[in-house]
Amino acid sequence: MKLENKIAIVTGAGSGIGKAIAVGMAKEGASLVLNDISEQSCQEISRSIESTYKVKVLPVVGDVSLRSTAVKIKDETRKQFGRIDILVNNAGIMISGLVLDYKEEDWDRIFLVNAKSVFLMCQEIGRMMVQQKYGKIINISSIGAKDGAIAQAAYAATKAAVMNFSRALSKEFAPYKINVNSICPGVVETPLGQVNLNDPVKRQRFIEMTPKGRISVPEDLAGLAVFLASDDSDFIVGQAINVDGGILYY
Ligand code: NAD
Repeated sequence: MKLENKIAIVTGAGSGIGKAIAVGMAKEGASLVLNDISEQSCQEISRSIESTYKVKVLPVVGDVSLRSTAVKIKDETRKQFGRIDILVNNAGIMISGLVLDYKEEDWDRIFLVNAKSVFLMCQEIGRMMVQQKYGKIINISSIGAKDGAIAQAAYAATKAAVMNFSRALSKEFAPYKINVNSICPGVVETPLGQVNLNDPVKRQRFIEMTPKGRISVPEDLAGLAVFLASDDSDFIVGQAINVDGGILYY
């Protein structure tokens, strides 16, 4: 198993991609700290993974756009496990809208949840990793970071922020044997992804745009996340890797 004896934090693990990554890491033997803003889904997924895969799972409920949550995750992880090996910053929201109609409070909220949370978590958990001189940080960006879509300018801007924050941070952290990379999913069948998939015409257009000929499912993201979390990826630094069935080639 690739992640035996490793401890991994996954934010926004109560649904979609975060849940699939948490399951993927549990299958490879990792113990988990699972966060979500929804208490119910955080507790449910934690119980389900613990009983199915027989790994230790610590649920930590909270809004990762708040420093108090990042500190709580750090403190509870340290108390339960004494160290941390892997951090997956996955929690995110989509607030769509044309720029001319976009509300200022929506701009602030989407940046808080999608971008500031990544800074806060990398800073708080990064402090533990720097002390240990070991860590793998995986930030979930989007192909929207490289090629934004209509009505998703704010979202694309948050995901570009995550991607370039990760690139710059990877240079700061590499000397401490901490790898920072990001993953750029395409259009994924999750509650968040429904903004692109609810409309059958748009759904069909996405299928046609995808050389693999189907819409992505959350499990498509687990393999790369496990690889980037494992020692096999020790020389991979500051990359933003697409997992999109071939939609984008850069
Ligand atoms: P999802 O809505 O299925 O899951 C997101 C989870 O994050 C939910 O459980 C939600 O409760 C949690 N969450 C939201 N705000 C939070 C907060 N402030 N603090 C803690 N938890 C919070 O969405 P998903 O599609 O699985 O998205 C996961 C990540 O993947 C996001 O960062 C998203 O931007 C990114 N992504 C998704 C797609 C897609 O098409 N679905 C494409 C590219 C990137």
